[in-house]
Amino acid sequence: MSKILIRGAKVLGGDVQDVLIDGETIAATARKGEIDISGTGLDAGDATVIDAEGQILLPGLVDLHTHLREPGREDSETVLTGTQAAARGGYTSVFAMANTFPVADTAGVVEQVWRLGKESGYCDVQPIGAVTVGLEGKKLAELGAMHDSAAGVTVFSDDGKCVDDAVIMRRALEYVKAFGGVVAQHAQEPRLTEGAQMNEGIVSAELGLGGWPAVAEESIIARDVLLAEHVGSRVHICHLSTAGSVELVRWAKSRGIDVTAEVTPHHLLLTDELVRSYNPVYKVNPPLRTERDVMALREALADGTIDIVATDHAPHPHEDKDCEWAAAAMGMVGLETALSVVQHTMVETGLLDWAGVADRMSHKPAEIGQATGHGRPISAGEPANLTLVDPAYRGEVNPAGFASRSRNTPYEGRELPGRITHTFLRGRATVVDGKLA
Ligand SMILES: [Zn+2]
Repeated sequence: MSKILIRGAKVLGGDVQDVLIDGETIAATARKGEIDISGTGLDAGDATVIDAEGQILLPGLVDLHTHLREPGREDSETVLTGTQAAARGGYTSVFAMANTFPVADTAGVVEQVWRLGKESGYCDVQPIGAVTVGLEGKKLAELGAMHDSAAGVTVFSDDGKCVDDAVIMRRALEYVKAFGGVVAQHAQEPRLTEGAQMNEGIVSAELGLGGWPAVAEESIIARDVLLAEHVGSRVHICHLSTAGSVELVRWAKSRGIDVTAEVTPHHLLLTDELVRSYNPVYKVNPPLRTERDVMALREALADGTIDIVATDHAPHPHEDKDCEWAAAAMGMVGLETALSVVQHTMVETGLLDWAGVADRMSHKPAEIGQATGHGRPISAGEPANLTLVDPAYRGEVNPAGFASRSRNTPYEGRELPGRITHTFLRGRATVVDGKLA
């Protein structure tokens, strides 16, 4: 493998540096101009030089919550197209949710997804195992067998569905504790959300749509942090969407409970006012909430109460979204717009600097999911999993240009800042000048 010299990027948004990649690793970092390509000093030899003036160099992003849809729904996404979308979004590692067909509830299925990820070459894929057989919430899946498989599963989730039975949840927390795994809960009390179509509030009352109360999310979070404390295990809460959820996680952390939490880009930006359009592109689970919730989520991500940003990338084919609101599928694609939304909502508002972005979108998610070789510092000897961002870029989101097989983005035509120019997976460019390599 040849050498690559990334010249003059702001590393984590700070110092302007040169970074030399040799093979799969970062060989050297130095003040700009100090890595010599003429053969003296830190020798870059015949390196390919990338002029990164004005760009930000981040560790490759890690997404703890991606739906890749393979096996079973290859019409909406495959492991290949999903990892291509991930690379375009600056990701070098994604965790693939278990709600495929068949469900990833056995060693066989998680190994299949893991192998497809290896073959794709665009982004590492770490399968998430189901907590219960068939996501039915009745019987624990083979958690140990999935952990011991080649896929080495450490994160378990019935995402899309809530593990609503308290005894099953307790057993799962006890089981994963033995090997240091984590249960990622989709917090949604099912009885409180029967027939729900959107956030329960003023807008749902005006539109006459079934409401999805905040308490449906918050009651499960309250229960699960108490269960985690009781059994001394670790719990992760998927896609927090309400101000009340933030308060509960803040309380649990202050009590020393081992809980982590994520927020999606769309819950940092969009509100239930958008549902007035009846455009199903805004239909998502958990639903878009209010301005007050959005502000609480941003603040919590900034102060560390919410640990990470996770996309909940949920591809759907055109026909599942191009229909009336009540019949439409829930979910949005997000891998290719996540960093832009975070730049817009967190960086440009002064809530988070780029080092903070690296923490919430790479270091922490890698730590929670134990993604080996990802979320590492940008320094010599580390794996060259990197992403280069042009923060000055402004452009309208055009889903026709997505690498994802699906187009269900809520941002079509919206101007967002920032663009991924390059992504490197173990030293190999997966994206060059914004295009798939
Ligand atoms: Zn979910």
